[in-house]
Amino acid sequence: MLILNETQLVLTGATSLDECCPYCAKALGAYPLISSDETWPCVYHAACAIQLATDILVDLFTFLSPPPPSGPFFTLSASCEAAHPQGESYALNESQRD
Ligand SMILES: [Zn+2]
Repeated sequence: MLILNETQLVLTGATSLDECCPYCAKALGAYPLISSDETWPCVYHAACAIQLATDILVDLFTFLSPPPPSGPFFTLSASCEAAHPQGESYALNESQRD
């Protein structure tokens, strides 16, 4: 959630701009701020939230497409037969995709 004023900041559970950003450990200080829905009531500087999101995307991309000589850890597919060999298959037939 984007936080632009004290009313919105109080709704996140934070009490003041003197609280520290969990990413950079500096006082929040000024708006705009961003609150995490997942780790309530964490409030970040907007720039720190962007940096954190970028770090997560880079880590996720590296996990899914590791650089050589490492191969991919797994491959995503539409078929669930490998995960559920005796169970119901959740893969869509060509006729079900439309
Ligand atoms: Zn910060």
